[in-house]
Amino acid sequence: MNQVFVTRSSMPELEEYMDEIRGMWDSHWLTNMGPKHEKLQAELCKYLGVQYIELMANGHMALEMTLQAMNLQGEVITTPFTFASTTHAIVRNGLKPVFCDIDPFTYTMDTEKLECLITDRTCAIMPVHVYGNICKVEEIERLAHKYELKVIYDAAHTFGETYKGKGLGTFGDASCFSFHATKVFHTIEGGAVCFQEKRLGEKLYELKNFGIHGPEEVSAVGANAKLNEFCAAMGLCNLKHIEEEIAKRRIIVEHYRSRLQGVDGIQLNIVQPEVKSNYSYFPVVFEEKLFGATRAEVFDKLAEHGIGARKYFYPLTNTFAAFHGQFDVMETPIALHISKRVLTLPLYADLPMEEVDRICDVVLSCKY
Ligand SMILES: *Cc1c(COP(=O)(O)O)cnc(C)c1O
Repeated sequence: MNQVFVTRSSMPELEEYMDEIRGMWDSHWLTNMGPKHEKLQAELCKYLGVQYIELMANGHMALEMTLQAMNLQGEVITTPFTFASTTHAIVRNGLKPVFCDIDPFTYTMDTEKLECLITDRTCAIMPVHVYGNICKVEEIERLAHKYELKVIYDAAHTFGETYKGKGLGTFGDASCFSFHATKVFHTIEGGAVCFQEKRLGEKLYELKNFGIHGPEEVSAVGANAKLNEFCAAMGLCNLKHIEEEIAKRRIIVEHYRSRLQGVDGIQLNIVQPEVKSNYSYFPVVFEEKLFGATRAEVFDKLAEHGIGARKYFYPLTNTFAAFHGQFDVMETPIALHISKRVLTLPLYADLPMEEVDRICDVVLSCKY
């Protein structure tokens, strides 16, 4: 029985990576904004179609540093249907998360429920482009403008995507990407902030390097969030293959869709108009009454066959033990409903088509 994991990192040929890092044995420049870092930054600006970008050690620090750089106080409206990182970045900045419910089809912030959560304590909105589904960026922009709020997107799932022909990093005041090994584009560990104001970049640059402003001046309490040269080199290699990576994922997603579309009790991910997708995840929501099996039953059956699916995102961040009793999950009933029923199925560029068929066979065998 083949073991299939939910994801598998794409890697360049070893030789290609060796060629990229070879010069480092002459320069001995391994971190602190070296030539690989600068080159990757320039290439990403072009690829993502953004004006400004600042690389970070990971996606989480991108979120955390951005909030700190904006010098915010009070409440940040976000969603609980996300990775721990989004909520933690808010809390670790001494800010209070306020949870908005999600749309049942895009799984992103339900903007119909957003305005009534805005108070005079609100300083920012941090929506998440879940599974690469794009938030209602126009409506979020309208409300942010009306109430003078900052908008920071968690864009960890949207590398390389465009909406109406514009790169996802161009929306809001800032968009934070993750280049973690499990993402569509990766630098082993890494991340970046794309932003609109040059001044924010200067702050981010200092904050990711302990807040050091000059040789004898430390002007902020920063952290260490620099992307090292080995990681940047991996990014330079992977960026050369990104179109092929996305094309391979697309074929797998289309095959999954052809097998699972129209099955009672299965909700597949929405296809959004005017979005160029990166095919980052394949989420399936099981409505047990129609499908005849619960998410847990499908998960266990897949595991029996050596197939690793992921309950992603589950549990909701507003139910984490870390926040014991601080939030009321009943304020986000749609997020709760989806998080109890969703599974992301295995998806990576080199997943064999026979395995996709086997996974679909197992899923469909759970149907009564
Ligand atoms: C991966 C991810 C992050 C965190 O990124 P890291 O690079 O792992 O720190 C944040 N938010 C979401 C939605 C993610 O999927």
